[in-house]
Amino acid sequence: MELPFAESYRIKMVETIRRSSREEREKWIKEAKYNLFQLKSGQVFIDLLTDSGTGAMSDRQWAEMMLGDESYAGASSYYKMKEAIAAVTGFEYFLPVHQGRAAENVLFSVLVKEGNLVPGNSHFDTTKGHIEYRKAFAVDCTIDEAFDTQCLHPFKGNVDLQKLEDVLKKSAEKVPFIIITLTNNSAGGQPVSMENLRLVRQMADKYGKMIIFDSARFAENAYFIKLREEKYRDSSIRDIAREMFSYADVMTMSAKKDAIVNIGGFIGLRDPELFRQCTVFNIMYEGYITYGGLAGRDMNAIAQGLYEGTEFEYLETRIRQVEYLGNRLIDFGIPIQMPIGGHAVFVDAKRFLTNLKQEEFQAQTLAVQLYIEAGVRGVEIGALLADRDPVTRENRFPKLEFLRLAIPRRVYTNNHMDVVAIALKNVFDRRDKVTHGMKIIREAPIMRHFTVELDLA
Ligand SMILES: *Cc1c(COP(=O)(O)O)cnc(C)c1O
Repeated sequence: MELPFAESYRIKMVETIRRSSREEREKWIKEAKYNLFQLKSGQVFIDLLTDSGTGAMSDRQWAEMMLGDESYAGASSYYKMKEAIAAVTGFEYFLPVHQGRAAENVLFSVLVKEGNLVPGNSHFDTTKGHIEYRKAFAVDCTIDEAFDTQCLHPFKGNVDLQKLEDVLKKSAEKVPFIIITLTNNSAGGQPVSMENLRLVRQMADKYGKMIIFDSARFAENAYFIKLREEKYRDSSIRDIAREMFSYADVMTMSAKKDAIVNIGGFIGLRDPELFRQCTVFNIMYEGYITYGGLAGRDMNAIAQGLYEGTEFEYLETRIRQVEYLGNRLIDFGIPIQMPIGGHAVFVDAKRFLTNLKQEEFQAQTLAVQLYIEAGVRGVEIGALLADRDPVTRENRFPKLEFLRLAIPRRVYTNNHMDVVAIALKNVFDRRDKVTHGMKIIREAPIMRHFTVELDLA
């Protein structure tokens, strides 16, 4: 018999989690104003809100924490991180920051000006927030296939070269850079192919533009390139990652994702002049350039995490778990973004709750229902997250309404995935009875989804 697949690690430390009753959950979610960000984590049984900063560090990462050098300037931890970044990404210069959005804040303070256009593939919400905060505009150039959840394109994160060229042709002078998100979080954890990266590079060169990689899940992207792009079948994840990054001028990184740490991030750069300009803002916003808002121990853990996060066996274990959950949902006939992405399963709420209109926040409604069913916390990636148009202040209704079930790295077992799948099946079986969506009671002027207060419509 062929041996079954098993995790490439064993469990050495555990954290107790508690179940709750349906009555408790109904009370708690009401108190949280139907916003899952407002729940206490102790009110959640299986937490799939995010895969950001929620991973389990390895024994080696914890050992590195003990070795962290807590010097204000010139800590050995800084040099350890520098060496790991150079080895894994090829970037010679770097600035540590406390998390991914801080990297965006520092870099965009130098590069983004009022009235700019920033083309890319489904910009992440903080990226878009940092662009719009500077009165500039994010232009989505993702391929159309990404918006059809049933289309089986292997690289749905790809940039549509025609859409990109249209922007560059018409308004090249307004474009400070092109940003590529790997994997593409907002469109379902979908990867970008090496071929696409190469072609975007050619176009960027033609128009003399820089390319920035939003690299939170670059290792998962490299894994998909290895599996789905014939030419890279025998390449190592590290070699693939190095080639990917060779097409970028700058990278921003939330280390809370593929570097498997609980906090941290960095900017990788090649141009010493741009590095110097960013340094000014890094010191103002984050801290001195050799710690950037991080403790030495955190930098050590990131360095170790960059090596572990780019090991094939680890990535295979991780992505196969996401696939396991996705396949269980498919077996129940639940509509999800296909193919299954790298870090999360994206449930197609428009097809799930066909009774409701998008104006009633279908994905948020589904997230609340799943929480009440089993204490499973997912997150809405839909109209709430899409926020209002910064100019007209009208609600934006994105093409897709997703309930994202993000899987923390090395944390849950497939038994937990079974609970999630059955809970969602139970909601699916009674979907005709979900006749009321949500309405907004109170919202912030930007990035409202974190604090929005809702009620039943
Ligand atoms: C998480 C994330 C960010 C922001 O990083 P934080 O560490 O949460 O600040 C930026 N881009 C992408 C694609 C992300 O997934």
